[in-house]
Amino acid sequence: MSFRFACKDGRAHLVVGPDNNVVDLEKASDGHFTSEPIDAFRRWDEVRGFAASCTDPGVPCSTDDLNAPSPWPSQVFGIGLNYRKHAEETGAKIPDTPLTFTKFPSSIGNPNADVPVAGPAVDWEVELVVVISKGGRDINESDAWDNVAGVCVGQDISDRALQLATVPPQFNLGKSRENYSPFGPWLVDAKDLASKDKLEVVCTLNGTEVQRETTDDLIFTVPQIISYLSGIVQLLPGDVIFTGTPGGVGAARKPPVFLKKGDVLESWLTGISHTVNRCV
Ligand code: ZN
Repeated sequence: MSFRFACKDGRAHLVVGPDNNVVDLEKASDGHFTSEPIDAFRRWDEVRGFAASCTDPGVPCSTDDLNAPSPWPSQVFGIGLNYRKHAEETGAKIPDTPLTFTKFPSSIGNPNADVPVAGPAVDWEVELVVVISKGGRDINESDAWDNVAGVCVGQDISDRALQLATVPPQFNLGKSRENYSPFGPWLVDAKDLASKDKLEVVCTLNGTEVQRETTDDLIFTVPQIISYLSGIVQLLPGDVIFTGTPGGVGAARKPPVFLKKGDVLESWLTGISHTVNRCV
């Protein structure tokens, strides 16, 4: 079983076994690690080593009780128009530079958080989410995956009206309402993934599939994004990157479809993680 990491009650946990039991990292390590998720990301190689030797069976835990695996990162990046098919459906030209915006950290909700429908044009975007381990500046593409703690699924929930309210548009606020950045419920260590350059994201709305794509359709790959961002800003332990959404968002449908109260969004990173978000 791959090494998995989660956060519960604000504390770092390992996820173990077929029943997804959780192990409190500070307690299981007799204080060698702190309870702080950020501290685990800073010392990721050590945590991985500890997880490999940990025989604690853990305690049962519902994914509804988990926090986002990196619940208070310093920085949250979103990449727009990063799948060829999604760029085509929006009528945009294929970007030659990663279209980067921020999702403010206060928008992070629990993985299965309720999503407030704040207006008439709130949309879904299922995404591969990556969390940075030690980070740094000027990270080469060839070293990029070594700076990723793990991957999971997330939703870059987007208030399209707010996202496009100004000329030129500033995406940041439209993507940062309360619980508009749910991801999780756990990270799977990137080192354990043979298929990390071809992962599948899937999204259903009320049980009907609306998005499905593999990350080999990405215009900018995870290593390219990390290399690009770290050439400009320092990437810090626990930083979160929403890597872009594939085709099938509501705004691009004819006619457009937006979220309404009572809708249920389910999201998968196939074989890795699954979240459920109810619209309220
Ligand atoms: Zn997005």
